[in-house]
Amino acid sequence: MRKSLFAGVLLQVLFPNLISAQDKVRSYANQLEKKFNIQIIYEKKVTDTWNGSRYDIPGNRKLLLNYLKIIDQEFSKYPAGYFQLALADILILTQNYHFQENHQAAMPDPYGRRLYLAIDGHKNNYSTEYLSSVIHHELQHNTEYAIWSSQYYKWDAWQNANTENFKYGPGGISAYSDLNVDWGSRSNPLPGFISLYSTLGQEEDRAEIMSMLMYNKAEADLHAFCRKDPILKKKIQLLSSKIEELVESSGFWRTANQPCYTNE
Ligand SMILES: [Zn+2]
Repeated sequence: MRKSLFAGVLLQVLFPNLISAQDKVRSYANQLEKKFNIQIIYEKKVTDTWNGSRYDIPGNRKLLLNYLKIIDQEFSKYPAGYFQLALADILILTQNYHFQENHQAAMPDPYGRRLYLAIDGHKNNYSTEYLSSVIHHELQHNTEYAIWSSQYYKWDAWQNANTENFKYGPGGISAYSDLNVDWGSRSNPLPGFISLYSTLGQEEDRAEIMSMLMYNKAEADLHAFCRKDPILKKKIQLLSSKIEELVESSGFWRTANQPCYTNE
């Protein structure tokens, strides 16, 4: 006891900035835990439901603080109690995240109420825009499990909203086998879709839409798509109504995205 106290004092004398940075991160994390009624874990590794996660404990304090700011900003847009209802109230912050050997920016684990989030993004992309979009996208996967008890639910109303004969691809994971394709760019490549990644599965389609609805900086593009794409508009309205059944709130997306909800 005395030895560890001495070590602590010595550490503080030798590395005062290190100690204060650590305190700053933990105290901000504590603040967010209270604010959103969530748990934020970054000091230790947590096994996921499939035991497939491999990652480093985040060592970069600056990145951690930056990531907490993004959580603060993006989580504030959801109605109170959302993360508990969406089975996403435990955030595991990671660096260099891999799931079953696949390098990726995040992993939804609604069975454990968890979201694994890489604070260093994917392949050196850790821009605020990318990290924010990833948070909303992955959160939607947990939300879908909360609604349908499946992350891969095939919703007839959703399928019917698409053009006749449209068939989804074999799921989001298949994108990793062809990284030459620009899956992620937001471009309205087909009626009803906001990226090529959206065409890989119903669940990815909805996660992509939710991500664009929630991230303000994507607003202008999304609204432009809505104005000329009635299928996309119909899907956005279907999705919002479904989520509102879960959270009993009209939420940020409706007020912030009027062009997708009105027939202007
Ligand atoms: Zn996804």
